[in-house]
Amino acid sequence: MNFTKIEHLGIAVKDLTEANALYEKLLGVPHYKTEEVLSEGVLTSFFKCGESKIELLAATNKESPIAKFIEKKGEGIHHIAFAVEDIESETERLKNEGFVVLNEVPKRGADNKLVVFLHPKSTNGVLVELCQEIK
Ligand code: ZN
Repeated sequence: MNFTKIEHLGIAVKDLTEANALYEKLLGVPHYKTEEVLSEGVLTSFFKCGESKIELLAATNKESPIAKFIEKKGEGIHHIAFAVEDIESETERLKNEGFVVLNEVPKRGADNKLVVFLHPKSTNGVLVELCQEIK
């Protein structure tokens, strides 16, 4: 099995402090970590939701992909992340299937993960993230 579960949903938010308070109320649990991903210009916050997680993403600068996303589409679901067991072979497989891979070399994402993104134009408008736990 290659895709094992929906690891998390990424949600773009304007104000992380306000969104944290809202999602704490919604999910009934506090966020368990906040992490900055410098290379992406984002501050992230994670909530557990059973087997899956919610990742809130706020921009830390105007050039951040999250700032651009919110400018274009407003706040909301930004990406779906699937857990994979072998990110390199999955990336190769999906490339061969014709999906547009944004970064062929897995990069370090938040929450101790290696991540690869697929361009939304090849996945019905949804930014797809593959992620593999760093052991
Ligand atoms: Zn993510």
